[in-house]
Amino acid sequence: MVTYTAPLEDIRFALDLWSYDETVPALPGYEDATRDVVDAVLEEAAKLCVNELLPLNRSGDEEGCTFENGVVRTPKGFKEAYQAFIEGGWAGLAADPDYGGQGLPKTMQFTVEELICSTNLSLGIYPGLSHGAYNALALHGTDALKTLFLPKLTDGTWAGTMCLTESHCGTDLGLIRTKAVPNGAIGPGGEPAYKITGTKIFISAGEHDLTENILHLVLAKLPDAPAGAKGISLFLVPKFIAKEDGALGPRNGVACGAIEHKMGIKASATCVMNFDEAEGYLVGKPHSGMRAMFTMMNTARLAVGMQGLGLAEAAYQSAVAYAKDRTQGRALKGAQHLDKAADPIIVHPDVRKMLLTMRAQIEGCRALATWVGMAVDVAERHPDAAQRQEADDLVALMTPIIKAYFTDMGFDVANLGVQVFGGHGYIREHGMEQLVRDARIAQLYEGTNGIQALDLVGRKLPQGMGRLLRRFFHPVLGFIEDNQMDADLADYVLPLAKAFGRLQQATGWVAQQGLRDPEEAGAAASDYLRLFALVALAYVWAKTAQAVLAVPEAERQAFHKAKLSTARFYMTRILPQTSSLFAMINAGAKPIMEPEEAWF
Ligand SMILES: Cc1cc2nc3c(=O)[nH]c(=O)nc-3n(C[C@H](O)[C@H](O)[C@H](O)COP(=O)(O)OP(=O)(O)OC[C@H]3O[C@@H](n4cnc5c(N)ncnc54)[C@H](O)[C@@H]3O)c2cc1C
Repeated sequence: MVTYTAPLEDIRFALDLWSYDETVPALPGYEDATRDVVDAVLEEAAKLCVNELLPLNRSGDEEGCTFENGVVRTPKGFKEAYQAFIEGGWAGLAADPDYGGQGLPKTMQFTVEELICSTNLSLGIYPGLSHGAYNALALHGTDALKTLFLPKLTDGTWAGTMCLTESHCGTDLGLIRTKAVPNGAIGPGGEPAYKITGTKIFISAGEHDLTENILHLVLAKLPDAPAGAKGISLFLVPKFIAKEDGALGPRNGVACGAIEHKMGIKASATCVMNFDEAEGYLVGKPHSGMRAMFTMMNTARLAVGMQGLGLAEAAYQSAVAYAKDRTQGRALKGAQHLDKAADPIIVHPDVRKMLLTMRAQIEGCRALATWVGMAVDVAERHPDAAQRQEADDLVALMTPIIKAYFTDMGFDVANLGVQVFGGHGYIREHGMEQLVRDARIAQLYEGTNGIQALDLVGRKLPQGMGRLLRRFFHPVLGFIEDNQMDADLADYVLPLAKAFGRLQQATGWVAQQGLRDPEEAGAAASDYLRLFALVALAYVWAKTAQAVLAVPEAERQAFHKAKLSTARFYMTRILPQTSSLFAMINAGAKPIMEPEEAWF
């Protein structure tokens, strides 16, 4: 089993770094979400994750889900753990109190998601999908749909899904064939009901035994739909039709046809779902399903980023424990542990480099996620419209970066974890290979990471004539200007300033060349996203160094000293990658697009 303790000290540090206390409890409705409350909730979440979820992670992977006669069973212990999860109110942590939720900030939701993903990603996917369904319904559903369904998603007795993908279309959803026609019946609130027919594939949590009902949010086309993505509508299709009082009615025409056998997240059921004239209700306006679906996807993309972070943390902690325990060879500067036949492998520079790479990425990403998580709360609740807009712009800009960079990082860090374990990492017993397999999917679903990069360069950069970009560029520039003369901060601010200069130049290059030729933007996109993310992490590491240096030297604990040395490691050993990314971006599209198809 992996070694894991919830990293609460680092989470608290990240909250302080962005002045949580002055920001989130000052928002209307979040007055009670003070740091004391946050700390207490995090302690409880840590207990749930370590005591209930973690022990089932490996057995869930070994056993997987089973499918028989249309029934999907989750592995042993999952039902009980899910029950403990919903009884603790975790399903409705950030949900609206009007529907029975706890009304806590999204910042906390993201933080708790990290802990869940560290301990049992497969199990976490079931309530994760329900959050997406909740958000889409809360923002786009009629009052009648909300009244009937949101309390059930909030208390977790019913679950949700996102049904987008079909066998011939994943990225290009404009191609979907699932049909919706009015069925002559009346749905909740007196709105017309529809008959939904088609087959969806790869549907996470499409069928399972954790809840009494499942609410599928399904993309389908109405008879008069315009061609392409503009003709897609969103429907809610319950597994069991709900009666007006919320009791279960008859079984609807939706069934699981098979489950996939896959590389990782084996305890998460990935289903083929057949809709056969199933009764469904329109969510949002006809033909505006993509808009409603993006509501789900944006929060889901941030949540998928947290999956990468959570798995990386589990890999790091396990690798550290192993590197301190495993003895091989002697330190190059001479034996360190004369009482032993060999030194622990943590003495070796190569092993240390791996551990520090893992740590610098994880802690940097956690601090970045905390900033963006708080911006989600500000965007939703701040009384001043301009502040809401600014925060929303930052979230929109950073969403593809968090989704793609964190999940690439999660996979790379899990892989480094295997490397630290040597051959023992490849053996199932230690759980390290499972982390690699589980981490891989996050780079693919919710829009592949290549598509995230296109979203960044194609949509987010030009939006509002660079308005979104300014929400990141302005604070970074301000920080550099304010601190560039501070000799104590020179090790952190100067590398940041250089890398930021590269990002500014690369942004100008992508904008200009991309206008001239979209293939230039497409060819630069994934390198640009990575360059952007590395600079964002440099910013949070420089701010981290500043916060630590503000603590009087005599009062600095090991935690603070480790932060400073990790910040220096990041600036000197990771951030220089921005130079090669910059050169690759400047090389342009020609080396990629020149080869003819037949040459491949
Ligand atoms: C375990 C698992 C769980 C999933 N859960 C769900 C779920 O709950 N609900 C759901 O609806 N779907 C789900 N999916 C589907 C998932 O979201 C899709 O697999 C994903 O969006 C990619 O679609 P695709 O597999 O069809 O790949 P394709 O779209 O065929 O893409 C193949 C490759 O081409 C690239 N590509 C495609 N188009 C472009 C373009 N325009 N420009 C540049 N590159 C491009 C992609 O980046 C990728 O590298 C799940 C998938 C898996 C494996």
